[in-house]
Amino acid sequence: MEPVRNYINGAFVDAVSGQTLDTVNPATNTVITAVPRSQAVDVKHATEAAKAAATAWGATTMVERIAWLERIADALEAEAETIAQLESLDTGKPISLARRVDAARSVANFRFFADHAKGHQDPTFSDHGAVNHVHRSPVGVVGLITPWNLPLYLLSWKVAPALLMGNTIVAKPSELTPLTADFLAKTVHALGLPAGVFNLVHGYGPEVGQAIVEHPDIRGISFTGGTATGRLVAATAAPMFKKLSLELGGKNATVVLDDAPLDDIMEGLVRASFTNSGQVCLCGSRILVDETIYDTFAEKFIAKVEELRLGDPQDEATQMGTVISQDHKAKVESYIRLGIEEGGTVLTGGLSELAPVPGVPSDGAFLRPTVLAGLSASCRTATEEIFGPVVTLHSFASEDEAVEMANLTEYGLAGSVWTADIERGHAFAKRMETGIVWVNTWLNRDLRTPFGGVKQSGVGREGGDWSMAFFSEMTNVCIQQP
Ligand code: NAD
Repeated sequence: MEPVRNYINGAFVDAVSGQTLDTVNPATNTVITAVPRSQAVDVKHATEAAKAAATAWGATTMVERIAWLERIADALEAEAETIAQLESLDTGKPISLARRVDAARSVANFRFFADHAKGHQDPTFSDHGAVNHVHRSPVGVVGLITPWNLPLYLLSWKVAPALLMGNTIVAKPSELTPLTADFLAKTVHALGLPAGVFNLVHGYGPEVGQAIVEHPDIRGISFTGGTATGRLVAATAAPMFKKLSLELGGKNATVVLDDAPLDDIMEGLVRASFTNSGQVCLCGSRILVDETIYDTFAEKFIAKVEELRLGDPQDEATQMGTVISQDHKAKVESYIRLGIEEGGTVLTGGLSELAPVPGVPSDGAFLRPTVLAGLSASCRTATEEIFGPVVTLHSFASEDEAVEMANLTEYGLAGSVWTADIERGHAFAKRMETGIVWVNTWLNRDLRTPFGGVKQSGVGREGGDWSMAFFSEMTNVCIQQP
């Protein structure tokens, strides 16, 4: 494959230093292609281009920008298969998942924000003879920094509202998954998006990401990634009073109440646990089950998990591919070892040397879906984010205890509750300290709803009006008749 290049001021360019890094296919552990290893100087060039383009882009009308989003959506949709193939190659996720989730949602993000904006009107308020008009203007140049688990899905979730609200962009995808961001750059280039409106700088986080967060002309940062990185981003951006949106890690609880119809929900629970090899920030990695149904639950759950088809991500039948890299596999396995040290029992899956995935390259980053039981709900394995195909099972004696266990971690991103009684589920959901709770479903997304976490899972919300608010500044103009 051709080397990936940065996209700055409407041109594809190498890093100023000429340095590169490799992006690797985790299923085969082979190099896919070279990617610029950019530095602060490349971010400086991208920011200058974005700043130069900001006035003209910000002066376009909302109607014109909606048309741009629709053009981008159409162009991506026409190449949905290419997007799915690139994403599967770069991440090791099954091609069927890349089609159904990554490619489809990347298109949907642009189309959604175009449609959402059509009905939008800024509010006016009248009181004691004066009328207040809320006027929105772009933030200016915004920095968008994204992780590797859902590469174009998460990048487009930020690019679409940022463009819509008239901002110009300096974006940085994860160094592990640059291919679809590059494809987006090629797409907007082919469509003739004005130079400097969308800029893409590849490279490592501490080099490129940090330079984006530090640059004084970048007025807003939308970051999705780990909590530790988010803390660094916040510490750098806060003294500069940048607008900041942080979508961070999670350790989500899946709560199964005693009346849950186990046979009906088991497929949903397996999906919530192991989609994308457990590498979705919303995956439920702690399953809390009422003690009266715990044994039956465990038996049915393990049977369903063992039905998952693992293997070559390119195989249409594969349901679970690899984790993102050999390094990440080692990290996930260190947590499986820790779980055993902390007194847990492996019910299925486990370390790859003991439970290898048959028929896959030996140096591919494959892991079996792993279920651990017998751990305290407060141990490290059950409270730290693993971000891989590992879940822990715990039992509770009462709803109060389940609430306490669910709220035990520092995180508060998402969760799910499974019950035959919707009102009971709703009441339970409101007691969970998280930004998102699903009842009897999971990753069921209406893009108009607020998305984001509490506690160490983030600050701010994305989605619909919340994204539009983040990517704009508001001026209230109060007019009184003379
Ligand atoms: P990460 O924090 O390592 O990296 C995220 C991005 O930040 C990458 O592009 C990386 O290069 C960059 N980065 C690294 N250091 C930086 C720095 N000092 N300054 C600026 N940018 C820097 O996260 P990851 O390993 O790529 O992704 C996994 C994490 O993302 C998990 O914790 C997961 O829960 C989280 N995540 C959260 C959400 C959400 O919506 N809340 C969604 C997806 C993933």
